Amino acid sequence: MAAQSEYERKREFDRTPEPRGSRRRGGSSPRFVVQKHDATSLHYDFRLEVGDVLKSWAVPKGPSTDPRDKRLAMPTEDHPLDYIDFEGLIPDEQYGAGPVIVWDVGTYQNLSEADGAELDPADAVEKGHVKVWLDGEKLSGGYALTRTGGAGRPRWLLVKLRDAAADARRNPVSSRPESVRSGRTVEDVAADDVAADDDQGRSR
Ligand code: MN
Repeated sequence: MAAQSEYERKREFDRTPEPRGSRRRGGSSPRFVVQKHDATSLHYDFRLEVGDVLKSWAVPKGPSTDPRDKRLAMPTEDHPLDYIDFEGLIPDEQYGAGPVIVWDVGTYQNLSEADGAELDPADAVEKGHVKVWLDGEKLSGGYALTRTGGAGRPRWLLVKLRDAAADARRNPVSSRPESVRSGRTVEDVAADDVAADDDQGRSR
């Protein structure tokens, strides 16, 4: 048995609908996902498939399509690959309680480099500077994630690179709040669960 990961330690899998496993996929490009998560405070979880985990950052304001915006991205624990499909309501008293939707999903190409040579994404994360080209429904083109600040409390910044997909006016965080998988909003997911509870005669 592998040692319990931070992800596993934080969750009770008989209570949360979140996935436990991490099925490997064959071939093709690595994937990314942005999950809108209305927990204690609203944020967007930006995750990149790197090896057999999803490297993860919580972005309070969500990704911007404007290269002038520097969006704070707080690193969070690695998530299992199956999490890329997760949409649902994390119950009260569980870690991260609140609705989650797949706000955007797609594949990415690694643009990270060091000294003119391509740098593996895992090494790029380790070094604190990752560049990727996203092919999603709402997000496309180059993005950079860069670690800044002190050693004790790492902060990262997520910034759109200047390319043809950059657009200072688009702002998909406000214009496209829905899930790309189901069309639902975080409010819909939260309301669905209340309705399901009522149907079963349980109290809220
Ligand atoms: Mn989250």
